[in-house]
Amino acid sequence: MLQFNPISSATHGLSRLPRSGRSTSPSPVMASSLSLRPLRYAVLGAGFAGLSVTWHLLRNSPRETQLNIDIYDEVGIGGGASGVSGGLLHPYSPKVKPLWKGAECWKECLELLSIAEAAVGSNKSDSETGEFGQNFNGFMVRRRGILRPATNMKTLDVLNDNARNCLASCRVEALDKDAAQKLVPKLQVPFDLAFYMPEAVNVHPLHYLQGLFLACQNLLEQLSTSGFGKRKLCLHKKSVHELRELEGEYDAVIICLGAKTNMLPEFTGRLPLRTCRGVIAHMQLPDDIG
Ligand SMILES: Cc1cc2nc3c(=O)[nH]c(=O)nc-3n(C[C@H](O)[C@H](O)[C@H](O)COP(=O)(O)OP(=O)(O)OC[C@H]3O[C@@H](n4cnc5c(N)ncnc54)[C@H](O)[C@@H]3O)c2cc1C
Repeated sequence: MLQFNPISSATHGLSRLPRSGRSTSPSPVMASSLSLRPLRYAVLGAGFAGLSVTWHLLRNSPRETQLNIDIYDEVGIGGGASGVSGGLLHPYSPKVKPLWKGAECWKECLELLSIAEAAVGSNKSDSETGEFGQNFNGFMVRRRGILRPATNMKTLDVLNDNARNCLASCRVEALDKDAAQKLVPKLQVPFDLAFYMPEAVNVHPLHYLQGLFLACQNLLEQLSTSGFGKRKLCLHKKSVHELRELEGEYDAVIICLGAKTNMLPEFTGRLPLRTCRGVIAHMQLPDDIG
């Protein structure tokens, strides 16, 4: 049997494109021949989803498996929403309600952040700039917590209730205006209520993604030198216009194109995707700040 790791989710499609003339469910005879040739995966998109999938494919594939992974991204690492996101990371909805699978995802996120940080830490001694032009100067993760003032009186009760049911691994504390302003002086707290998540973090999305890609490359090197099946990883700066382009090339295609998934003709109008707002704020500190 062809094995796939359980990494697909509602937004990450796992699509099998059989090599021409082959069955999608190999017989036991075929299965033994599969172990002799590399499994070929295409990961479409090099954002948060695509690079996380790549890391898990590399780390969790059986020891003896030969693996070739091609990542396709029309822009490069972090070309879509991931690259411009605010990087506010916590397992809650805007109403401070724990997200679906929040505790597990939170744990995974923190682990991936540590992996990316460790990779950059070990790379720094060699050079500040990696093979793909990554600039590792500056922060990757700020662990100072996130503070959110309530901005809507109608939802105060819901917010308070949700905060009381917070996760142990990422607490939510309800603060009054004075307490909130001790953390952030002069903060506007219109309803005398703010929510503080001490364990929440702020991620520099591009630094994190570059770090995770570097971690994938390091892992690949490590596995190749320790007797694991041969593994290859290639990042192609290339646009994929339709899945058919890849037909016959791969054992599986993992689609991590974010909001653009809908643009593949195979999916247009078929996915229940909803767009939502994101905010990009460019801020400049005054020149006279100390
Ligand atoms: C302005 C803004 C602020 C945000 N702030 C936050 C925040 O603070 N906290 C938070 O948790 N979330 C935030 N989000 C949401 C978060 O960024 C997204 O949920 C997340 O980035 C989705 O990641 P993804 O990997 O699924 O998709 P994407 O990041 O969109 O990655 C898709 C990749 O596929 C590539 N691609 C697309 N089409 C093709 C194609 N045809 N061929 C080849 N490559 C292609 C793109 O270049 C891109 O690199 C924000 C989003 C926006 C827009």
